[in-house]
Amino acid sequence: MNEALLQFIWQYNLYQLTGLHTADGEPLTVIHGGRLNKDAGPDFLEAKIKVGNTILVGNIELHIKSSDWLRHGHQHDKAYQNLILHVVYENDVPNVAGNTPVLSLHDHIPAHIFDHYVNLMQAPQKLPCARQHETVRQITKEGWLSRLLAERWEQKLGDWNVLLENSAEDWRNLLYWRMAANFGFKTNATPFLMLAQSLPLNIPAKHRESLLQVEALFFGQAGMLEDDFKDDYPRELQKEYDYLRKKYKLKPVTAHLWKFLRMRPANFPTIRIAQFAALVHKSVHLFSQVIETHSIKEIEPLLEVTASEYWNTHFQFDVAQKQATPKSLGKSSVQNVVINTIAPIQFLYAARQDTHALQEKALQLLEAVPAEKNNITALWEDNGWKAINAAQSQALLQLYNNYCSAKRCLDCTIGLNIIRAKE
Ligand code: SF4
Repeated sequence: MNEALLQFIWQYNLYQLTGLHTADGEPLTVIHGGRLNKDAGPDFLEAKIKVGNTILVGNIELHIKSSDWLRHGHQHDKAYQNLILHVVYENDVPNVAGNTPVLSLHDHIPAHIFDHYVNLMQAPQKLPCARQHETVRQITKEGWLSRLLAERWEQKLGDWNVLLENSAEDWRNLLYWRMAANFGFKTNATPFLMLAQSLPLNIPAKHRESLLQVEALFFGQAGMLEDDFKDDYPRELQKEYDYLRKKYKLKPVTAHLWKFLRMRPANFPTIRIAQFAALVHKSVHLFSQVIETHSIKEIEPLLEVTASEYWNTHFQFDVAQKQATPKSLGKSSVQNVVINTIAPIQFLYAARQDTHALQEKALQLLEAVPAEKNNITALWEDNGWKAINAAQSQALLQLYNNYCSAKRCLDCTIGLNIIRAKE
């Protein structure tokens, strides 16, 4: 027994509800176990019980042992006066909470609750419930996935709200920053975001007509134009950047932030920067297009870009490839940008406008994108749960990263259903 499990058992009424008595032998009925309190103070608030013939309404505190009351110093804390019930697993020291009735749950918890809980906590697999989730009803799982997606977006969009406030509610800027971070994908997201933040959008926008100047601004600000180059193309970029840097008093980020190691060359930051520059070059009203377009078929072409010609034969400056290949942003990368930038920004924009219908459309956009393929979705698939679209794969990522890997099965709807199942 531990306190989290005891709270869980109390919260979901997983003990035998009939035949309860207080430590003083009075019959006890739990009418409402109360609302779980995650802040300071008693564990459950606004509960309602009947002791003998008296109905009591108020707060309840739970402990493994009644002596924990003293160990936690509750006898000196006003927040714990006037409780209606002290629930313990073991009443090792009687009357520690004065006149507060005491209920010991020791003999009222069915054995299968412990068995299922221990099985989950001791499971050696990466996914503690493995295929057991298949015993949970589909409708319950889908409801849980929707809540997980909402939780994921709430966490993500909290940070975006801060970015928005820091940029005087400039949505174009938010899109620019988040899109840049997205082009860095997992490995180079931070330097990409720093790059965008070091270069106000209005500067590359002013030079949008010239791809070379837009590229010079981004490569220069990335700190990648500091070397002595032999190829003409980086030399031209240098020349342009020297001029633009002085004109706008720009300060580049340091080049050593960029990671190339253990990456596929197609994902090198040089290629991603060239593609990002191509996107800025070709987009005139990207923000309004992104906000107003909810069909995946119309959004994808907005993001389809190819790095300029030099990159057909290079992954890095001055290092030529034997075979020429155009460096286009691949379909799965485009979908990654829709999942991680476009749909969330549409959702945030709709939420700030209080437009429920548009929030729904942002979710529908995510449902129109195929499920992501990565180690975590593969793990779920191996265990019998295949995401059918990106909304589900995002929710499964949230579930694995925030619950399964930390064994938070007590906070998970699937865990609840597995633990309380009789078989
Ligand atoms: S957190 Fe939920 S889904 Fe994950 S292993 Fe535990 S019960 Fe299964």
